[in-house]
Amino acid sequence: MGYNKINTIMKGFLSMIYCCLDDVDLALEAIVDKTQLAPVIDQIPKEEQLSTRCEYCGAPAVYIVTNSHSHTECGQ
Ligand SMILES: [Zn+2]
Repeated sequence: MGYNKINTIMKGFLSMIYCCLDDVDLALEAIVDKTQLAPVIDQIPKEEQLSTRCEYCGAPAVYIVTNSHSHTECGQ
């Protein structure tokens, strides 16, 4: 039983996609597909946008899409 929980946490941890405005739909779909959980979109702070790239097209990333709850539930 413990394994399922760990597995879920691991998946949640890995499910984090940087994306630009155009590819946010793809990122949302990918997260739902992978984790079966509702995705959460956060805007990346301006300073960090410079060093992050969209995983789909390589443009500067604007959003980070994660699966929800991980930071509220396990204190990450
Ligand atoms: Zn993109």
